[in-house]
Amino acid sequence: MQARVKKALPGVACLLLLAGTVALLASPRALTGDPTGEVPLVMPDELGSWRGENMLFCTSDQCGRSYLERDLRAGGSRADLAFGLDEKMLERARGRAAYHAAPTNSLDGPVTADACPFCGSPLSVISVGEQTLLPESTPIFRKLYVRPGHPDVTATVVFSGMERRSIHRPQVCLVGQGNKITDEYTYEAKIGSGKTFPVRVLEISRPVRDARGEVAGELASVYAYWLFNPERETDSHLVRFLHMTIDNVLRSYRPRWGYASIAIPRDPLRPDAWKTELDAFLAAFRPVIAKVRADLDANRDRVLVIRGSSSSANRYEGAGPTSSAPAARTTNEE
Ligand SMILES: [Zn+2]
Repeated sequence: MQARVKKALPGVACLLLLAGTVALLASPRALTGDPTGEVPLVMPDELGSWRGENMLFCTSDQCGRSYLERDLRAGGSRADLAFGLDEKMLERARGRAAYHAAPTNSLDGPVTADACPFCGSPLSVISVGEQTLLPESTPIFRKLYVRPGHPDVTATVVFSGMERRSIHRPQVCLVGQGNKITDEYTYEAKIGSGKTFPVRVLEISRPVRDARGEVAGELASVYAYWLFNPERETDSHLVRFLHMTIDNVLRSYRPRWGYASIAIPRDPLRPDAWKTELDAFLAAFRPVIAKVRADLDANRDRVLVIRGSSSSANRYEGAGPTSSAPAARTTNEE
């Protein structure tokens, strides 16, 4: 008899645990950390020696080109642009299109800030890939930073809320977008005053196609990222996961996590030049993240009561662009 009870014990324990979990999930839970509140991040227009530019993406998944808003608006009204294309501007847009998300570097249509010059589809501040992959109400912030005589730096910050799928492992996304990861490691960026800051670096390359769609070469770039919440910063998804689990289960503290990524094209003639570029950019950009962390922390005591599944509580109470409201993008007024 006793042996039988002993044998049944693990099963009974499992059932009790399961029942407990179900009861816990079903009963209302109070969480702190403000996972649905506004994200008070502003990507600066001026950042040290860099000038920030807004990017626009074609919403056609067949096309997927990206542009600088400034290039599409240059020259004034739409009619002017349609009739008098500035060759220099087009040349720049071609170069940029090849550098960023564009699968080919030809740019043939009329240039406006409303539609893709190549295929005429509407433009959005969020790329097709992000639109497809990110859950609704994912706050996303981005600018391309330009500095004369230096490679362009694309800085993107994405935030998770109640929904954790907002933050993807880039190792998966980048490959899905046609990149090849050639190396991956933690890089200690030199951010001044003898201090270093660890970021995860992926060395990637992707084929560049000409106007006929033929592969014309490889474009190498460096993709660096780190993760943060109001309390912590890490370059490891695993470490973030551990903190998330402990905070959620033991503290009912569920702040937004941010995912800051920086992409810099790599000059094949100076393959290590990105290091000084990244060091300098991080020295200027990390204080922007430090400020948003402090601002998010100011709302840490705001209580959110969850009933039922937590992802159903995913929402965004701010005004900035998110994956579900990308249309609030651009107007024709400067
Ligand atoms: Zn297009």
